[in-house]
Order: sequence, then structure tokens, then C-alpha cells
Amino acid sequence: MSYGGKKSGPFSGQQIASNSSSNFPTFFIIKRVSTSDESFHSVSPFLVEKAITGSIGDVKSTKNLRSVDLLVEVQSRKQSEQIVKLKKISNIPITVSPHATLNSSKGVITCGELLNVPTEEILKELQGQGVSHVRRISIRRDGQLLNTKHLIFTFDSAKLPENIKAGYMRLSVRTYIPNPLRCFKCQRFGHSKTSCRGTLTCARCVEVGHESTDCTRTEKCVNCQGEHTSFSRNCIAWKREKEIISTKIKKQISYPEARQLVNSQTPTSGNSYVSVAKKSFSAPSVQKNPDASAVTCPKPSDSTAKASPPITNLPIPSSPSVAPVSEAELASPDFTDFQLVRNKKKAEKGFSN
Ligand SMILES: [Zn+2]
Ligand SMILES: [Zn+2]
Ligand SMILES: [Zn+2]
Repeated sequence: MSYGGKKSGPFSGQQIASNSSSNFPTFFIIKRVSTSDESFHSVSPFLVEKAITGSIGDVKSTKNLRSVDLLVEVQSRKQSEQIVKLKKISNIPITVSPHATLNSSKGVITCGELLNVPTEEILKELQGQGVSHVRRISIRRDGQLLNTKHLIFTFDSAKLPENIKAGYMRLSVRTYIPNPLRCFKCQRFGHSKTSCRGTLTCARCVEVGHESTDCTRTEKCVNCQGEHTSFSRNCIAWKREKEIISTKIKKQISYPEARQLVNSQTPTSGNSYVSVAKKSFSAPSVQKNPDASAVTCPKPSDSTAKASPPITNLPIPSSPSVAPVSEAELASPDFTDFQLVRNKKKAEKGFSN
């Protein structure tokens, strides 16, 4: 994801050691070149390990992706440059390419001074620090689309920088954690309406065959069987899903690995998510709409920002939404909605302007 010009802007020039020059891809996919769909499944792991180590040295990790390709994490720029040149493992022909999404990361910054600066300009100024995409979070209030001072930055490195320099300002970068993707057709997590193979299920009452729009029946959740709608933020299944995504991003592991970890750590709803939730600031839902991404924010009062997310129980209009369910979607430019994990206690002020 190179945007060519690595020059820093006039205001961000001298002081910053440009991250960009030190950024290099660290995750690589090794594919086996085979006419008969052979994978690494049939290759001795000793052989693979020795071949990789023998040609580029000890790497950080090597994993088998769904028993097909290998995912290798290198630990130096030199290895990064070497690995892409590999054509063979032992005598097995291979192709090596940087992983499509794992070599980037997303963070949220908050800066009132950038409120009226166009995102194109922000991107241009910050490219030199490894920023490859900038998206402003906007909220919809009384039918009006309002910009906020929150920006989602995509960085061209797997590791998120702790802070970034915007002109004379140093801004801290927080991990961006998208909300779980819920299908608007079957209401299950992990896929969108467009790829749904389930049946139309009411998000309010769980009956099949009708939409929730005009439904007035008793609330029931398809994902946890609880007495709330399937879009409720009080749903333990939603909270668990959220924690899996959070774990996946923070630990840079696959979705199945993260799920296993979360399920082994949180047999009940009572622990780590809740502690995270109390410290975190929930921003309102963002509909997937690359052109005018808007957040629906019915009543952004200060009190709602504390313990419970501001848009609990808000019906989400049916439109496809995206949240990561696999490595491939980790750095997708589209998100449904998001939640910020705050480091500092400034949450209440977040959306007040
Ligand atoms: Zn579905
Ligand atoms: Zn219904
Ligand atoms: Zn539920």
C-alpha cells in the first residue's frame, strides 16, 4: 500500500523520524505452486522449517493456514526482502507474497484541531508516518451528518504506532476494534446478508419469515436465546463476539485462535469483557457506506456514554455490514460500527460537539 511520495508535509517534516522508511511487510503467504492442488499438508514440517531457516534464518513464526498456505512472520527487514525472492522450499516450487491485510493496522485518533481539515489533506500530511488511509467518523443527528474529531487511520505496518505527529501536535493512537458483523437476514454473527445461506429470521422475535421492522412480538435473541432483540448490545453472544475480535486484533492471531482463547478464558459473561466495557467508550454504529459513512446517534447524552453503549437496542437498517471474521477482512476499509478502547478518561466529551 504505497502512496508513492514519502515526503513529510511542510509542518510535519524535520522532527519526525519517518516511520514509513522503517515499515516493511512482516507477514507473508507462501503458496505451493502445483497443478494438482497439492498443499503443504503433505510436506514434512521438519523439511519446511529447515528450508525456511536455511534460506532466510530464524523467523518469528510459521503457521499453516487452513492446511493450504503457509503464513510466515519475519523479524527483520532483511528477511522481509529475502523471503519474497524464494522460489522453492527444498525442491517444491512456491510463490511468496506479502499478506493482504496483516501488514497493516488501524487506529483511532481524536483531535479537535483536525475537525475542519479534509481527510485528503490529513492523509497527504501523514503519509510520511506510514498512514495509508484516513476516514473520519461522522454521526447523524436530527437528520444531519456531523463530522466528529475522531479519525480512523490505516497504517502500513502490522504494529500500530503509539502516537503520531500532526503538525505541532502529538496525538495518541488507540487500537481500532470494529464491532461484530451481524447478518441482517439470519441475525447470526460472522457473515453479511449478501453471503448468507441461512433463513430470514426476525431480529426481534426470532420467528422465521418476516423482518423485524413492523414486528411487535416478544423480544427474543437468536444468538443467546435471551429476552432481547438480536441486535441488543446487552447480548452476551454479542459481547463475546466483540471480545473475540478485540483479542484477534490485539494479539494478531486468527479468528479461530481468538475464539478458542476467549472461550477458554470467559466461560461466563462476568469477567474480562465487562471490565473492558467499563473503561471503554462506545461510539455509535457506523453503517457501511464508503461515501458518507454515518453514525446513527439518537440521543447522545453524556450519561449514556458511561456504562452502556449509547445505541443499545437501536434497530439497524438492513444494509450489508462488515466486520472482521478472518484475516482477509482485518484491514477491510469498510466497517459497520466500532467501539473504541480508550486509554484516557475523556469519553464523556467524545461526541459533544
Ligand atoms: Zn445470515
Ligand atoms: Zn418478529
Ligand atoms: Zn442475545
